[in-house]
Formats: sequence, C-alpha cells, structure tokens
Amino acid sequence: RLEIRNLTRSFEGNQVVKGVSLKVLPGQVTCLLGPSGCGKSTTLRMIAGVEMQDSGEIYVDGNLICDTVFRVPPERRSIGLMFQDFALFPHLSVAENVAFGLKGDKDSKRARVEELLNKVAMGRYIDSYPHELSGGEQQRVALARALAPKPRIMLMDEPFSGLDNRLRDDIRDETLAVLKDEDTAVLLVTHEPEEAMRMADEIALMRDGLIVQQGAPYNIYNNPVDKRAVAFFSDIN
Ligand code: ATP
Ligand code: MG
Repeated sequence: RLEIRNLTRSFEGNQVVKGVSLKVLPGQVTCLLGPSGCGKSTTLRMIAGVEMQDSGEIYVDGNLICDTVFRVPPERRSIGLMFQDFALFPHLSVAENVAFGLKGDKDSKRARVEELLNKVAMGRYIDSYPHELSGGEQQRVALARALAPKPRIMLMDEPFSGLDNRLRDDIRDETLAVLKDEDTAVLLVTHEPEEAMRMADEIALMRDGLIVQQGAPYNIYNNPVDKRAVAFFSDIN
C-alpha cells in the first residue's frame, strides 16, 4: 500500500508537481493518466526516490519513507520499477538478470527465479541472453526481474510504449495477471486513456501538476470533470 500526500516539485522556479495526493492499494492498479508534460514521471521519480520532492510525504504500508527531512534510500523502499527504457543487462543471462536484486543463498534465489520465469511463461529461456529474445520476451523478463524481490509497490512508467500494437495488448493482459497474482500495488503512468481504461482499477487524472479527478475508470469515462477531460477521452476508439 502506497500513500503520497501533497507532493510538490519545481524546476528552475517552475512548479511542475503542485500538491499531488494519492493512495494505491495492494492487488490494485492505479493509473496516473494525463497529457505529456503534466508531471507524471516527476511524481513517479519522487516516489522511487531518484528525485527529491520540495514538500510532501510518502508512506509505504503506513510507514513514512520520505518527507523533507527524513529519507529512506531508493533500494530500501520495497518499490519495484519498470520503465520503457529500463533495459535488461545485456551481458547477463535471463536467470542472472532476474536474480540481480535478490539476496539469500543460491538455492532460494534459483527457486524464486524459476517461479517468476514460469509465471511470465519464460521458463525455457532461463539460460538465454537478452539479445536472443524478442521485444515482448524481454518485456516479460523485465517484469520478472522487477517482481523478484517481492516489492510492495510497483511503479511503471509507460512500460508498454516500445511494443507494437498487437503485442502490446497481450503483454498488458499477461502483466496484469502476474501483478495480481503477486498481490503487488501498482502505480502505472500513461498518457493513453485507452491503456488506463484497460488496465486500471482506479484512475487519477492529472493535468498541469495536479490531480483533477479520481475514481473508477467507467466513472471517469462517463462523468468527465470538464470539457478538457471530455476532449482527452474522446481519442479512444
Ligand atoms: P510525458 O507523458 O511526456 O512523459 P510527464 O507527465 O511524464 O510527460 P514530466 O517528465 O514529469 O512529464 O515533466 C513535467 C515537466 O517538468 C515538463 O515540463 C518537463 O520539461 C519538466 N522537467 C522534468 N524533469 C526536469 C528536470 N530534471 N529539469 C528541468 N525540467 C524538468
Ligand atoms: Mg513521462
């Protein structure tokens, strides 16, 4: 469970995140949806701990992990990351990629790697190398790698945008199934209403650094908050 309260962030005097509050529950996908430049990635980067907020607090499972004076380092936040350009390590095998962030003895690591690779239907590629895999296969391994340390929260920033259309639908569905199975709380960033409608349990509509509407996908789609929201959703075919 993730909770953020009133996060803000400016660059060179220009405030791009203007007080964002959000809750993400275990087993649920919350989508941060909004047009390019509205502050989605900056928000995600603050949660991950690779960007520092100017003000506001971040909690994981009720524990404060970051405010303006106290800060848990990124690797100890129990947060998994999946970004579009978050590539696999090319010189490591599939098994080594998935085991990368794992602690413990060899056997327990191997067991977790096999469990995850089977979940993403990549078990028989365990000894392959990234360059031997298709884009979709690499994506599945990246998901296994991100989930291997059992993060409480998974942050995904447009993770499917590098895939072609036909493959993307399949990978989205498979990814959802695996995330639900692992009971991870997911915060997914996208600028595509269609992707949010397809994947989200909850949508937070973001614009100009603020969340302007939040709720179940059908609710937001059927009752857009204003004309700009209507226009934004009208692209869906
Ligand atoms: P997109 O959908 O295009 O990825 P986004 O909603 O993720 O957009 P952000 O990447 O959060 O948008 O950027 C929000 C604003 O903050 C943009 O105007 C961007 O130029 C600016 N910005 C982001 N990072 C920095 C930085 N390190 N230095 C200066 N400006 C930045
Ligand atoms: Mg972005």
